[in-house]
Amino acid sequence: MKLYPIQCGKFKLDGGAMFGVVPKTLWQRTNPADDKNLIELGTRSLLVEDGKKLILVDCGLGDKQDEKFFGHYSLWGDDSLDKNLKKYGFVRDDITDVFLTHLHFDHCGGAIEWNSDKSGYRPAFKNAHFWTNKNHWQWATEPNPREKASFLTENILPLEESGQLHYLPLPTTGNYGFVPDLKMDIIFVDGHTEKQMLPVLQYQDRTVVFAADLIPTVGHIPHVYVMGYDTRPLLTLEEKGKFLKQCVDNDYLLFFEHDAHNELATLKMTEKGVKLDQSFSFNEVFGY
Ligand SMILES: [Zn+2]
Repeated sequence: MKLYPIQCGKFKLDGGAMFGVVPKTLWQRTNPADDKNLIELGTRSLLVEDGKKLILVDCGLGDKQDEKFFGHYSLWGDDSLDKNLKKYGFVRDDITDVFLTHLHFDHCGGAIEWNSDKSGYRPAFKNAHFWTNKNHWQWATEPNPREKASFLTENILPLEESGQLHYLPLPTTGNYGFVPDLKMDIIFVDGHTEKQMLPVLQYQDRTVVFAADLIPTVGHIPHVYVMGYDTRPLLTLEEKGKFLKQCVDNDYLLFFEHDAHNELATLKMTEKGVKLDQSFSFNEVFGY
């Protein structure tokens, strides 16, 4: 098995919304805001190559909305999914599976593109199976008013219409395997949205956890630094507390999807709770 970080593109969001009730004087130390109070974010996917499988975990914003839409998200930098797949010798049609942690547009927008005459939509990965779970699918297709702006019908319904969408079974107890033979478990969390899925992979004697929107950036490591976007913040606190302890006890390497600058980090226990131990580039840990 081999893992690759794939930066699908960078954008910005309001720092206050990203840090909920945490005062700006605290969060701006790790995530400095620009003159519009926006902070730099990425959409870093994780590519998993395992035998004949090439699995992409999340796929960024995509490019099908208009200028006005993307104007709200201040795109920056020159990264793209195709450019960064190519860096490792892959093209999008090589992808066999797209694992969607959840269906917010900054995680699944890249899954769907315009068809050739722009009369409708089609999967942007023509050979891939797309994976979600039934509870999250139902949550996303009948959205509450808070999350409605994040669940875009043009990202979601064409997945179902394509016939390429599949549901992962929900766990009965703890974690379980995803694809047979692949050493990947899934942590389910419900605080950010219903049944978000965090992949856990054993790789080169390390455990790598895709932190998605449970811990989007290094700045979100402190226990109470919960995003304003979370639908059930008290549940996030509970889930995150358990998760942070698990990360420290087992020396997990966190893989950050939304941190524009830090790819991986380890955590440590201090008198004031769990903190960042060290952040690393992918190359520093894995040598490529
Ligand atoms: Zn989200």
